[in-house]
Amino acid sequence: MCSNFMVQTPMSSSFLDTPVEYMKGIGTVRAEALQKELMVFLFKDLLTYYPFRYVDRTKFHTVSEVSDEGSYYQLRGYIVGMQVVGDKRAKRLVAQFRDSTGVIELVWFQGHKWMAERLKPNVEYIIFGKPTAFKGRYNFAHPDIDLASEENLKMQSAFQAVYYSTEKLKLKGLDSDGIRKTLSHIIYRLDAQTVPETLTQSLLEDFKLLPRHEALRQIHFPDNKLMLDKARFRIKFEELFYVQLKLLRLNKVRAHTVHGFVFNKVGDLFNTFYHKHLPFDLTNAQKRVVKEIRVDMGSGRQMNRLVQGDVGSGKTLVALLCMLLAADNQFQSCLMAPTEILAKQHYDTISELVKPLGIKVGLLTGSSRSKERKVLHEALRDGSCSIVIGTHALIEDQVKFHNLGLVVIDEQHRFGVAQRAKLHAKNTSPPHILVMTATPIPRTLAMTLYGDLDTSVIDEMPPGRKPITTMHFMESQRLRLIGFMREQIALGRQVYIVYPLIEESEKMDFQNLQNGYDAIVHEFPPPQYQVSIVHGKLSSEEKEREMQRFVKGETQIMVATTVIEVGVNVPNASVMVIESAERFGLSQLHQLRGRVGRGAEKSYCILMTSYKLGADSKLRMETMVRTNDGFEISEVDLRLRGPGDIDGTRQSGVVNLKLADLAQDGQILQLARTAAQTILDEDEYLASPGNQVLRQNLEQEVKTRGSWSKIA
Ligand code: ADP
Ligand code: MG
Repeated sequence: MCSNFMVQTPMSSSFLDTPVEYMKGIGTVRAEALQKELMVFLFKDLLTYYPFRYVDRTKFHTVSEVSDEGSYYQLRGYIVGMQVVGDKRAKRLVAQFRDSTGVIELVWFQGHKWMAERLKPNVEYIIFGKPTAFKGRYNFAHPDIDLASEENLKMQSAFQAVYYSTEKLKLKGLDSDGIRKTLSHIIYRLDAQTVPETLTQSLLEDFKLLPRHEALRQIHFPDNKLMLDKARFRIKFEELFYVQLKLLRLNKVRAHTVHGFVFNKVGDLFNTFYHKHLPFDLTNAQKRVVKEIRVDMGSGRQMNRLVQGDVGSGKTLVALLCMLLAADNQFQSCLMAPTEILAKQHYDTISELVKPLGIKVGLLTGSSRSKERKVLHEALRDGSCSIVIGTHALIEDQVKFHNLGLVVIDEQHRFGVAQRAKLHAKNTSPPHILVMTATPIPRTLAMTLYGDLDTSVIDEMPPGRKPITTMHFMESQRLRLIGFMREQIALGRQVYIVYPLIEESEKMDFQNLQNGYDAIVHEFPPPQYQVSIVHGKLSSEEKEREMQRFVKGETQIMVATTVIEVGVNVPNASVMVIESAERFGLSQLHQLRGRVGRGAEKSYCILMTSYKLGADSKLRMETMVRTNDGFEISEVDLRLRGPGDIDGTRQSGVVNLKLADLAQDGQILQLARTAAQTILDEDEYLASPGNQVLRQNLEQEVKTRGSWSKIA
């Protein structure tokens, strides 16, 4: 039986690496299609091309039971007649299928000739599919059809895998069924020899995991629900385990091989600032995080730390204290922001704060004039400038530092892994790296994306903040909105109105923004009211001027696109109006809302939407109204969008999961991470015989995916 099923593969160990063209029924043409369409080259690629769902084929129905277009039915019976009907263009094969309860029609529009040759009378078949109602009767178009042989009955009597396919593959007979049948030709060859185990014996035992070969078989051809669940668990665990093992090992390796600058002095700058010029008491969370960072930077290890803290939790001050510490130890530091506006704002805040200390702070962005740029470059080279703030322009190659010791990256999700690596070239040893984010990133994602970073959390807001009240308004409530804005402005507050602007619909969005601005100026006319407008088409001077008018309180209303999204700080602004709020993602909405509630005044966020909201949009609005908790919001966001869409995930290349889902599998991730940590704590180099398998697989992966050992 085996021989007619399978081609001979040279050696059992290379079974998985056999090109798919040698698989029964594939050949060169289909193999090429599989490569082009699905990136499937080898047996192992097809074996890890996992089903996206399963249909229950444990049950058989009768013809008389077929009654619902939405459900799948599985029937056993005989073909009792067939005809080719219709004219040339709409030819189809219609076959009558009978069981003991009645007759139902099966229809094929494509491949009907091929089908007609194969359908035999007096042979029992199993059909499976979703019926369509046509003129009051049901039929099955293109059902799955198989001989009711013993073997098939056994195969069909389980959960049946369904695979994604593409139009091109379907034309070549590789629809979901085709893929499943192809797999059925190799599945019986899976055993401990052909599919080497990739996890250690103790992991298998501790977590009661199926062996790899068994998991692969069960995921494609599950015996039952229990085995399917076990298979999925095993495969997810393995995927997540290796991601964690890799990240945690990177951490360990770095600790040995990368020398970190030692900031052991807490000197004049830090102390003077801390005791004399701090504008307010630090929150306990800020104190704790500063301490964690100080310990890191004094340890002789190179710091790679992620500081998470919700919008408004006071991350800037933490960064500044660390930069002063660097300066006390004769090191320079830089602070990188994702936008020019934010860089400028950080520059203003920080220059103001350190004025009494007499240290030099520089600003470098894409629009810095070449003369200023030259002066700053020189000051960075000779070390006279100890703190520089800027955008990505800072990591351009010309920028040379005298002695760069600390890099702070604000809102890191826009800052890829590759850029972090670039920083390593800026000094003889890599500088300490502090990544600050308010995104906030769900824990599962943080563990996967930044699992190589140590984490600090600022989980406390500065005192006196009143929670922001969020309301969801529709167009009919616009008058109420205008009235509310008038009240707030009369109380001396300021208002943001934010419009979406995305590239794809830029023209229309821009028009909406302009119209909105005109309408607002009409409602809030000068000289009593002044309105600012900021959008991406303004030059940076214009933007800056408009921002400044608002910051200084010369204007009461700021109409803007999302350029103000990240980091702008105007404590007197207490109302955030978001137009077409349904077009923003949850984390963006949360970021925008974080622009208010920064002063002591009660603040409001008003989400304006149209009436027609999809289920997802509705959930986003409800979530915003219900909670101010950034972590809760990020969890909902992750569930709605899936991790692939969260900023930075895709580019990072860190997440390469086929089955595991960061939105769903947080618990497995936690288990996998703990397991990886425990193993590395006991056997850092994976040198013990039992751990060889892990080492080999890690090395294999590094070979195929490239090394990240240079990555900060
Ligand atoms: P984020 O964490 O979003 O970057 P910022 O650093 O911009 O937050 O701080 C938000 C606001 O809170 C700023 O106006 C800042 O001056 C203020 N702030 C920061 N720390 C404290 C504190 N400990 N007490 C009072 N206000 C603070
Ligand atoms: Mg900030």
